[in-house]
This record gives sequence, C-alpha cells and structure tokens, in this order.
Amino acid sequence: MASESIKILGVRVDKVNPVEAYNRFLHLMDSHTMSMIFTPNTEIVMMAQQDKALRSILREADLVVPDGIGLVYASKLHNLGLDERVTGIDLMERILKYCHTTKRSIYILGGKPGVAERAMEAILKVYPSIESKGYQDGYFKPENELKIIDRINELKPDILFVAMGAPKQEKWIYKHRKILNVKVAMGVGGSVDVWAGTAKRAPVFFQKANLEWLYRLLKNPSRVGRMMALPKFMFKVLLSRDFSKDYAPKAEDGINGGNSEASVSASPDKHASN
Ligand code: UDP
Repeated sequence: MASESIKILGVRVDKVNPVEAYNRFLHLMDSHTMSMIFTPNTEIVMMAQQDKALRSILREADLVVPDGIGLVYASKLHNLGLDERVTGIDLMERILKYCHTTKRSIYILGGKPGVAERAMEAILKVYPSIESKGYQDGYFKPENELKIIDRINELKPDILFVAMGAPKQEKWIYKHRKILNVKVAMGVGGSVDVWAGTAKRAPVFFQKANLEWLYRLLKNPSRVGRMMALPKFMFKVLLSRDFSKDYAPKAEDGINGGNSEASVSASPDKHASN
C-alpha cells in the first residue's frame, strides 16, 4: 500500500501527518524488500528543480515526508491537502523509540569523524534496548565504499540511518538499495549532529512558531545562501502550476512493483526542465 502522494513543484511528497508517517514506517518494517525513507524540505525541493535524478529518487522512495513548513504553505496555496509537516528528526525519534521497544538494531553512517559514534552513545543512553550494530563517518574514500557496505551487510542492522547531507544521502541510499541488507534506510541529515551534540535543535518556541529556519540562520549566518531557498521556493510556488493532489509514486521493483531506474550521478542534471 503506497502513501497518498502529492506533487509540489514537480516533486513527490507524501500527504502524511506524523502518526501516518510512523504507521507507514511500521508497514515498511513488514515488507520483504529494503525500504527508503526521505525527508525533503523546501531546500531539497529547490535542489530537485535542477536535479532530475533526485526527483526520480524521491518518486521511487517508499516514504517521503514533508519536512518543511514551506511545503505546508505551498499545499495551502494550491489546496493539496497537506496540513502538517513531519520533521525528519521527529520521525527518527519515533523510529528510535520503536527500535527500543522492539529491541531492533541500528547503524549510523555519516557525519564528521566521531559524530556518528557520539550520536550512537547518546541514543543508547535514552534508548538502551536498541542494539547498536555500529557507525561509520560520512567522509570515507570511494575505494572503501564496498568494504563499508559489506560490513553493514554482515551486521544486518534493521535500520540504517544515513547522514551525509542532501542530495548525497538520498543518492547513496538509492544507488546501493539493491545490495544493502537492511530493512529500512533513512536519510537523516543533520539529525545525527543534533544527537551527537555538535548541532542544536531550535528551542521549542522556534519549532512551534515554524521558525526553525530563522533560528538556524541566527546561529549560523553563513547559511544565508542556503536559506534563500525558502523565499525562492515561495516565489516559485506562486508562479508555477506544477502541483498535483494525486501523484502516484513511480513503480519500482521494490514494494511498488515494476522496474525503473533513476540514473544517479554526483552532479545535478543541468538539462532538466524547470
Ligand atoms: N556529511 C557527510 N559526508 C559528506 C557531506 C556531509 O557525512 O560528504 C554530513 C555532515 O558532516 C553533517 C550531515 O552530513 O553531519 C548533514 O549535513 P548538512 O548539514 O549539510 O545537511 P542537512 O541536515 O542540512 O540536510
């Protein structure tokens, strides 16, 4: 059963609230094939305008949660029925809680050296029944990639959290989806830094006011370039007609059947139409 999906500026996002996203995750845990979970925000939707491979990957994923208030605003403007955002960090927390209660195992891949290890320690303090299968920083040499995958496959973690920033983590998971021996692989970006204590989540006031982006900008003014994605996104939302209330995830030879292949390259597709 696929989630109900909508199209925002040509990009697939699932119409799910936090509870529905979590239920969908539970359903994926019962699937016999590896599932991919992604959490695009407005910045990623803007990246996907130029990056056709990223658009295809999001369309082929098993769960794509709306991790940004901009996506909810776009939905309101175009009447797409998405009322709430589902942040990646909150979904990760629910998944961790689930892994704790059901004694599942996790592996963390990504972050600067030492970050995944610190994140794992912090996670195990809160959720001691989780089985840690290990961690690996996200700055390994390409020639070590297969060795890392072999190790993950030997360890067979239930959940693989990949924190290498967007779109690298989405492309990495997609590229290796057929050889990864895990139940679910999820792109979690900076959430691992928050667990490790190397980044702080915005205080609750900013979260509730949907102003996390402002907090991040105040803390780290060098992000201003990246932050411009939000006004650019809103401007495009006003002008574009590339929206749909009903956007079927693309068939793939995973749980959705069929077989298609997004070609994954490191650089954005310059020829993609906007
Ligand atoms: N990262 C990584 N390998 C890379 C690039 C980034 O492991 O080649 C890590 C980075 O250290 C950080 C995480 O990816 O821990 C998220 O990066 P960023 O803040 O850019 O992503 P966001 O959460 O904003 O999507």
